[in-house]
Amino acid sequence: MLAEIKGLNEECGVFGIWGHEKAAEVAYYGLHALQHRGQEGAGIVTSDGESLHLHKGNGLINEVFQQDEFSRLRGNAALGHVRYATQGGGGYENVQPLVFRSQKESMALAHNGNLVNAYALKHQLEAQGSILQTTSDTEVLAHLIKRSGHLRMEEAIIQALSMIKGAYAFSILTENKLYVALDPRGLRPLSLGILGGAYVVSSETCAFDVIGASYLREIKPGELLIIDDHGVSSRTFASPLNRTLCSMEYVYFSRPDSDLNGKNVHASRKTMGKELAKEAPVEADVVTGVPDSSISAAIGYSEASGIPYELGLIKNRYVGRTFIQPSQELREQGVKMKLSAVRGIVDGKRVVMVDDSIVRGTTSKRIVRMLKEAGATEVHVRIASPPIENPCYYGIDTSTKGELIASSHSVEEIRELIGADSLSYLTTEGLENAIVAGENSAEYGICNACFTGNYPTEIYPETALPATKA
Ligand code: SF4
Repeated sequence: MLAEIKGLNEECGVFGIWGHEKAAEVAYYGLHALQHRGQEGAGIVTSDGESLHLHKGNGLINEVFQQDEFSRLRGNAALGHVRYATQGGGGYENVQPLVFRSQKESMALAHNGNLVNAYALKHQLEAQGSILQTTSDTEVLAHLIKRSGHLRMEEAIIQALSMIKGAYAFSILTENKLYVALDPRGLRPLSLGILGGAYVVSSETCAFDVIGASYLREIKPGELLIIDDHGVSSRTFASPLNRTLCSMEYVYFSRPDSDLNGKNVHASRKTMGKELAKEAPVEADVVTGVPDSSISAAIGYSEASGIPYELGLIKNRYVGRTFIQPSQELREQGVKMKLSAVRGIVDGKRVVMVDDSIVRGTTSKRIVRMLKEAGATEVHVRIASPPIENPCYYGIDTSTKGELIASSHSVEEIRELIGADSLSYLTTEGLENAIVAGENSAEYGICNACFTGNYPTEIYPETALPATKA
């Protein structure tokens, strides 16, 4: 489904490189591959060994960067970020990387995720005299690091990381080093690769393929990587806990050509579709997926059920950036602009419409109606993930609980509301089978909290805003 019309929004993308003479340009292409993770702002900071150089702005990566900027972004190391802004979190000052300059050592930070104790830490920092310039959690880490001014940077980062809680993939660039850290449960994805003699880190492995880098490994939960001219060294800053990588990365967020925990995202989505076909079979003539992220699951459903896959819905790729419009009315207009039912395919047919998730239900209702208006005699909706009943506190904007239709309606009530002839969701077991079945399931576990309500960390719901994130 299309994030921008669904009310389920991406988090952010981080890309770093150390040891490449065209570091800024490579970072640009890396960020381009991560654009789906955030379209509201982008930035790249470089280090030439003596100082940091920054360019950032609101908009898509190709809107923020023109050729001219690269001559100023000097140096063999770069850190880049693409960002999805939430309510109250927009504005130029929140676009990352954030740069903090000092005579001793400057640093730039980029972050993907959400700190669940950010409110308490901000309160504490302000009480101690810190002046926060942004509403971003990322600045909290910067202040915590700077507070330990007497320590070496590496020790100061470790001390600061020990104080933060939640989901985070942090990258910090100084004049001399690139630091990369993943939270102790590994809620967010982050991988290490190599490009010639340069090391690269990325939120998703698809960026490695785009720039011609080779994948080396994932950053481990609780691990701090230190990358410099001597290579890569690793430290454990917190005891790693059982991994709980966000399952929505598999369901929806990550690009199908990325690998997570060693599993290809497209292949995982296909397996979700196969599990769904086993759990919720139906007699029909064609299977169609809601573009783009549901197509893999629809192919899986088709393969397992024997019902042919057809392109019953197409997406118009060339509409404007309507997704930045926040109102429900405009969001609904966006649906009409962005999706069309293919009459020649669905007319007179019983259609299985596979989608990855339902958030508010309004989009599903419009698509079902669109298929029926194009002549579908029956529309059976199959959702390749369990009902989203709980908000996310880890950096995904899943809306508040009150806006999540599954938090207050039964499956039958939702079916009726969206006008489908039948509706089924994948079970949590089916989702886990598709993602983590196998011998390493404890090591490579997933977070299911928005489906089950079982949050893997403390969440401080009274102070944590589900949609406040980097
Ligand atoms: S609550 Fe849901 S969206 Fe958030 S990290 Fe867990 S699985 Fe992902």
